[in-house]
Amino acid sequence: MKILELSLNGFRNYEAFNCAFDPGVNLIVGQNAQGKTNLLEAICYLSRGSAFRTRKEAELIRFGAEFADLSARVESYGREQSLRAVLFAARRPRQLFLSGVKKPSREELDGVLNTVLFCPEDLLVLKKGAAERRKLLDDALCQLRPKYAKALEEYKRLLAQKAAALRDRTDRPEMLELIPDYNERMAQTGAILITTRAKYLRQLEERAAAHHEAFSGGSEALSLSYQTVSTVTDPTAPALEVYARLKDHQQSHYRAEVESMQCLSGPHKDDFEAALNGLPMKAFASQGQTRTAAISLKLAERDLFEADTGELPVLLLDDVLSELDPGRQDFVLNRIQSGQVFITCCEQDKVTHIGKTIRIEQGRLL
Ligand code: ATP
Ligand code: MG
Repeated sequence: MKILELSLNGFRNYEAFNCAFDPGVNLIVGQNAQGKTNLLEAICYLSRGSAFRTRKEAELIRFGAEFADLSARVESYGREQSLRAVLFAARRPRQLFLSGVKKPSREELDGVLNTVLFCPEDLLVLKKGAAERRKLLDDALCQLRPKYAKALEEYKRLLAQKAAALRDRTDRPEMLELIPDYNERMAQTGAILITTRAKYLRQLEERAAAHHEAFSGGSEALSLSYQTVSTVTDPTAPALEVYARLKDHQQSHYRAEVESMQCLSGPHKDDFEAALNGLPMKAFASQGQTRTAAISLKLAERDLFEADTGELPVLLLDDVLSELDPGRQDFVLNRIQSGQVFITCCEQDKVTHIGKTIRIEQGRLL
């Protein structure tokens, strides 16, 4: 997938902007607050129908403007298509178009332009709590596997119901009678979550480790290990076996759940540990190492997307070069050879030798 050309009118700090892109690397250079991230945000909006920095559409419209008009010519599955979104400042629903035809729902634009985004917050994935890492797996799998998305939705619903039953058990002890039914269905859907996550993480590790090795000049080995419910010793076993192990865990934790009034059993606490040369990254990785691994994970996610859909998503890298040494910067700028990449950076002297350098000042192309 490739973006051939992008036009923006009244989007964020862009009054009127048009630019054709390189099919390889596009390096977007500019000082702070000139509109580099805004440009990635526009691409993301056309790709996903939502922005990554805000949920409020009004914030995307240029101050004082009545509407924002974003459009792109893209190459997708060998065909040239166009995507367009018009957002209105007044209380009027946005309009979406695919190759000139108005589409009533965002889903109809799904898959025309897939993007994988790295933004500085993604560094938290490797440094912060388990929720961020679970989200990384869930987001990717929900896009790739409809069956997984359904199981996750059902699991979350059951978890909320079970949590409510445990919480209310002093006032309404009869609620506890519902727990066996919740447990049964949570073990069934939980087994789907665990086996799918385990397999995906294994594939992700294989690709991410290869990228990280090249990125670090061969000096660092990245490994990812899945952590789930303690009784599930082999999360890649058939779902039926994982289901049985989940039932064991539920049984042995039932008392504790009732006493603590909390759900203690199930894959809602899942996590994975990232390590470099065997050392857990959370405790020992440097800033540059964390950044390298986070970008390698994105490159791997993109590979797996390609393996599944047959097309390589466009890679959007926001502010990736800071904290990287010259060798690692060179990897980002000149050695990501596959597919189309957008990289933003503030350093004026940076150029890419395998693509196009685009300079931005106050929402204008220089
Ligand atoms: P940095 O290098 O600091 O990350 P950047 O080039 O990525 O900077 P952006 O985040 O793309 O900067 O742009 C930020 C600028 O866009 C801010 O100065 C902000 O005021 C302006 N901006 C954001 N939304 C709007 C809007 N709706 N209308 C006009 N300007 C806006
Ligand atoms: Mg920025």
